Amino acid sequence: MTKYAFFEGAIVPIEQATVSVMTHALHYGTACFGGIRGYWNEKHQNLYVFRIRDHFERFLMSTRLLLMKLPFTPDDLVNITLDLARREAMHHDIYIRPLAYKAEKIIGVRLHDLRDEVTIYAVPFGRYIESEEGARVCTSSWRRVDDTAIPARGKLAGAYVNSAFIKSEAMMNGFDEAIVLNPDGHVSEGSAENIFIIRNRTLITPPVSDNILEGITRRTLMDLATAQLGLQVVERSIDRTELYVADEAFFCGTGVQVAAIASVDRRPIGAGKMGPITTELRDLYFEVVRGNVPQYCDWCTPVF
Ligand code: PMP
Repeated sequence: MTKYAFFEGAIVPIEQATVSVMTHALHYGTACFGGIRGYWNEKHQNLYVFRIRDHFERFLMSTRLLLMKLPFTPDDLVNITLDLARREAMHHDIYIRPLAYKAEKIIGVRLHDLRDEVTIYAVPFGRYIESEEGARVCTSSWRRVDDTAIPARGKLAGAYVNSAFIKSEAMMNGFDEAIVLNPDGHVSEGSAENIFIIRNRTLITPPVSDNILEGITRRTLMDLATAQLGLQVVERSIDRTELYVADEAFFCGTGVQVAAIASVDRRPIGAGKMGPITTELRDLYFEVVRGNVPQYCDWCTPVF
C-alpha cells in the first residue's frame, strides 16, 4: 500500500497529497507524467529502479513542452524518488508515478504564466496486460494524435484521452490492445506502448518522428538487440499490412515490459504465438531490469 507522496515540495502522508477541484490541469489536461518501474531482487535483497535518470530527463522534456518552469534537475528528482522509495520500504516490484501539473486554480486555457507543481508516488505493481505472452491485438479505428495537434513524444496527460479511446475500443471489442495508425496511415504505437516488428531477423520500429512516445524501453531493447543478440535494428515507417506479414511482433514499455503480439485483426503473426527472437529478447530484458546482468547494472539504481 502507498503511504507517502512527494507533494508541494515535501514527502507527506498520501492522504495529505490532494488538490482542489479548481486545479487547471484537471480541466484542461495540462499535466505530464512518467512511469518508472522498480524491480525487487530477492537474491540481492534490494529494489532496483530501472533507468531512473533517463526517465526524469524525459519527464523534464515533457514539462518543457508544456512551458513549465520547475526548480528540479533530473538528479534532484532521482534523489527525491529514492528518498520516497526508502520511506515506503516496499520489498516487491513497484511502479513510480511522477506527475507535473498546472496547479493554478483559475479558468482560462493556456500554458504560459501558470504555477506548476510536481508530485511523485509509488504503487505495488505486477502485470500491465494479462496476456503478455501473446496479446490479441486490433488496428484501432482511431488515429494517433499528430505532432501538429498534441505532441506524442512527451507524456502529456491530455493526450492520454486519445490512448483511452484506443484502449477502450479494443477491449470492448474483445481484444487485449490496439495498434494505432498515424493520420498518414503508418503505424505509430499501442495505446501506451511502443511497437517492434521482426522481418527476416531485422527489428523494425517507427522513428521518433512518427508520433510515438520516445520510449525508454524501446531504446533499451534497441541496445540489447544489437549489442547482445547481434541483430539489426531499423527505425523506419511501418505500413499496416507489414504487421500481417511480420515474422514476429511485440509491444514494449515500462508497464507492459516486452509483450508478444500473437495476432493482429485476428490474423496470426508468425506461428500465432511468441516467436523465438521475442522470447530471447524478453528473457534478457527481465534479467537486465532485475539487476542480474553486471554489464547493465548502471541502469539499475539500488534503493537500499
Ligand atoms: N508509448 C506510450 C504512449 C506510452 O504511454 C508508453 C509508456 N510510458 C510507451 C510508449 C513506452 O514508454 P517507456 O518505455 O518509456 O515506458
